[in-house]
Amino acid sequence: MWKKRVRIVVERRRRTADGGQRFDGRCPVCACDVPTLTRQEAAAYLQIEVVEVDSLAASGRIHALHTVAGAYRVCKPSLLVGPR
Ligand SMILES: [Zn+2]
Repeated sequence: MWKKRVRIVVERRRRTADGGQRFDGRCPVCACDVPTLTRQEAAAYLQIEVVEVDSLAASGRIHALHTVAGAYRVCKPSLLVGPR
């Protein structure tokens, strides 16, 4: 008998005390739920250009998450880890 496998991905949004939006996602590298940032927020956080965020994500130095809607988020804890 033929079985169909369906993968359900749950996204959560949380409001912070200061009224901002916080999006938590499951980082495939950290293997846990983490706070995430947009590419622009990550660039501002690291004080670099957005293209440099893309380069760091492509090299694996920071963790990129993709939502089912196609959005691209950055694992915030990965921004705090130094060179390995
Ligand atoms: Zn991560």
